[in-house]
Amino acid sequence: CGIVAYVGHREAAPLIIKGLKRLEYRGYDSAGISLLNGNGLKIYKKKGKVAELEAEIKDKPLHAKIGIGHTRWATHGEPNDVNAHPHYSQGQNLAIIHNGIIENYASIKKSLTNKGYTFESETDTEVLINFIEDIKKHKGCTTEEAVRLALLQVEGAYAIVIIDQDSPNQLIAARKGSPLVIGIGKDEFFFASDATPIIEYTKEVVYLDDYEIAVVSNGELVVKNLENVETGAFIQTVEMEL
Ligand code: GLU
Repeated sequence: CGIVAYVGHREAAPLIIKGLKRLEYRGYDSAGISLLNGNGLKIYKKKGKVAELEAEIKDKPLHAKIGIGHTRWATHGEPNDVNAHPHYSQGQNLAIIHNGIIENYASIKKSLTNKGYTFESETDTEVLINFIEDIKKHKGCTTEEAVRLALLQVEGAYAIVIIDQDSPNQLIAARKGSPLVIGIGKDEFFFASDATPIIEYTKEVVYLDDYEIAVVSNGELVVKNLENVETGAFIQTVEMEL
């Protein structure tokens, strides 16, 4: 139900936790965070309040400048630690957060299961990240291209952010039907379901449109449509005050 992601020069974990708290008003049943640093791509997630997730990671040295965080409102699979987001792909090199519903997840899951994929959770979201991993493996393409090819086949609503262990300065986001805002700071980028987690840091935002993919990589933002054509990022100034 709520998305917060960050890449830049600040400590990502406290910033993401704070942002998730700002989105609590939307309602949720569990919360989680994925962080990427020199030790790899880690996921921490928990049923319950953001404060419980925060308590769990408090004593861990989670220094990372890039991460994704989520508050879940369960649609597929009961609220529990396993079904909470983020979700890894099977190879554990990709992690995803997702708001919305992948309507055709069952048929995608079936074809992935036939290829030998197994799933930890009951979510539609874990199906999507493995679908992306499978396309990436078979096409030998970039993660960005695999996301685009996967979304061309997805029915339903989504706001997603994906982090790739092999691209430590990159976040890939996309939306259809569920909101997603990108905050543009100085050498840093924020992603959130609405601007409230962002405005403390920057007032310059881009509201992603349906069927757009945003890639932040090495300090640059590129927005494309699902036909792989650059649509340009229309930067607006939010008037909202904290
Ligand atoms: N459909 C996803 C799930 O059940 C995402 C729900 C949400 O928007 O939080 O895990």
